[in-house]
Amino acid sequence: MRIIPISLPTPFYIGPVNVYLIAEDPVTLIDTGPKTKEAVETLRAGLRSAGVSVSDIRRIVLTHAHEDHCGLARALRDEAKDAEVLVHKWETGHRVGRLEYEGHRELLVRAGVPRDEVEELRKIYDGVRQYADSLDDDHCGELNDEAELEFETGALQVVHTPGHTPGSCSFVRQADRTVIAGDCVLKRITPNPILSSDPIDPSRRFRSLAEYLVSLARVRSLSPTLVLGGHGEPVRDYEELFMRYLRAIRERQAQIIRLVTDDGATAWEVSRAIFPDADDMHRFLAVSEAVAHLDYAHSEDKVGLEMSDGREIYRKISAD
Ligand SMILES: [Zn+2]
Ligand SMILES: [Zn+2]
Repeated sequence: MRIIPISLPTPFYIGPVNVYLIAEDPVTLIDTGPKTKEAVETLRAGLRSAGVSVSDIRRIVLTHAHEDHCGLARALRDEAKDAEVLVHKWETGHRVGRLEYEGHRELLVRAGVPRDEVEELRKIYDGVRQYADSLDDDHCGELNDEAELEFETGALQVVHTPGHTPGSCSFVRQADRTVIAGDCVLKRITPNPILSSDPIDPSRRFRSLAEYLVSLARVRSLSPTLVLGGHGEPVRDYEELFMRYLRAIRERQAQIIRLVTDDGATAWEVSRAIFPDADDMHRFLAVSEAVAHLDYAHSEDKVGLEMSDGREIYRKISAD
C-alpha cells in the first residue's frame, strides 16, 4: 500500500498543504486542499501522475476541517459521484464554515477581544471561508478512533488526536509505523491549538492545549518511524520533535504566567504582549494560543480566573 504525497498551493501564510493519495481500492484521498483553481489543477496533475483521476476517488478522509485541508471535499465528492467523505464528529463546528459566527463571537468576547477587533476578525473569517465549501451532516460519514480503513493491500488505523482542532485525526499504518498526522505534527513550527468551543458542551471552551499534550504523547506511543504532516517535510525523528514541542510549550507557559500580574489581564492583552506585531489572521492565532495556555495554567492552579463584565480576567496567584 503506497502513500503518495501531493503538495498543493494555498493562499494562506502557512504555504502549501500536503494531501495523501492511496491509489488502490478503494482509491482514497486524505485531505483535499483549499477551494482554489490552482489547488484543483495541481491536484488533478498529481492524481494523473499516479494513474488515477478524480472520478476514481471512492473515499475522502479529512484530518480536520480547516479550509486548506477540506476546501475541495465537497466538489471532489460531487465530481467523483458521491465518494464517501469521512471526518471526526467533533469537527462539526469547523466543518460548517468554521465555527458558527455567534458561538465564536462569544468565545472572543470572553477572551477580552475588543468589539471592533471582533468585527475585524469576523471579516477575516469571511475572507477565509470562501476557500471551502461547507459539508453538511448528510455529506459525511464518521471517523471513529481506532477504526480501520481497509485497502486492497493494507490498512490505516484512525487515531483521534485532538488539540489543533477538537476532531483532528491521524492515521497509522501499523506495518511500518508511518503516521499521517495532519496539523498535529508539523516539522518546522509548533502547531497552534485553535480557539474552539467544546464539542460536547458548546457553552464551554475546548481545552485545546491539555488535549494536544495527550495527543502528542499518544503519537509518541505509536513509536512512529515516519510522520507525514499537513505542511512541510516528513518527520523522521519524532522523538526529537516531541521534546522540542514540549520545551516550546513549557517556555510559553512560563512566559504567559509571568505576564499575568496582580492587576489581572485578559487573554487578548496577554496575546498582544507576546505578539505585538501580529496582524490579520495572526491576531486570532495569537489569542488562540494565549487562551490555550491560560486555560492550561489555570487548570494547574498557576493563575487565578474571574469573570468581569463578561470577560475573563486572569490574575496572579499570591505566594502566601
Ligand atoms: Zn489546521
Ligand atoms: Zn493546515
